[in-house]
Amino acid sequence: MLSDDALLRYSRQILLPSFDVEGQENVAASRVMIVGAGGLGCPAALYLAGAGVGEIVLVDPDTVEASNLHRQVAYRESDIGQPKAQALAAQLMALNSGIRVAAWPRAADANWLAEHLPGMTLALDCTDNFASRDQINRACHRAGIPLISAAAIRLEGQLAAFDFRRPDSPCYACIYGDGAAPDTLCSESGILGPVVGTLGTLQAHLALRLLTGAEVGGTLHLLDATTLTWRTLSLKRDPACPVCGH
Ligand SMILES: [Zn+2]
Repeated sequence: MLSDDALLRYSRQILLPSFDVEGQENVAASRVMIVGAGGLGCPAALYLAGAGVGEIVLVDPDTVEASNLHRQVAYRESDIGQPKAQALAAQLMALNSGIRVAAWPRAADANWLAEHLPGMTLALDCTDNFASRDQINRACHRAGIPLISAAAIRLEGQLAAFDFRRPDSPCYACIYGDGAAPDTLCSESGILGPVVGTLGTLQAHLALRLLTGAEVGGTLHLLDATTLTWRTLSLKRDPACPVCGH
């Protein structure tokens, strides 16, 4: 049961027929893990906290640097040197005191994910390297927890959801394999803040859609921010996939 305060606070999203009171109750009962508190994780976490996600778990081993501030919108100059997980958690708790936030200033390695993913409703991959993406994909697939993955570099971005509650869901490795693909790092190639912010915002959007019962898996969305055009590719499970194939 939502309180009168909650009905008022979340009224603008509850007004949406696809959201409604039932959607708000589902959102409030959900537990979302966000791996990576950078350019994707900042907007994703802020929107999910604002929307009233009941529990948000933040994981990131890094500290805030001056070169983060052009795109990692939750941080201020006074946060430089602070662990990102804790600095972002502080922002989320200031935004919404009615939710629970846990901060883990460490890497989400395979063992940690295996221990902490069970019981989550959903995970967001907001990391910036292939090895982390591969580990998160494997862990979510194994635990049967939906995964919303995004990446952005230069003026390009990509977004996909994998609903591992469904036995026929494709996975991240169906698209990209599990080999050690060379990472394209924004520290070398560059990134524009609004581009990565758009992708992180859309991760939160897909998360809210999934938490309110919509089907969001099975499509890869590719953004070309130079021309502001999107391409969508239908994803199919690869029977020979090294992670989810047989
Ligand atoms: Zn796969």
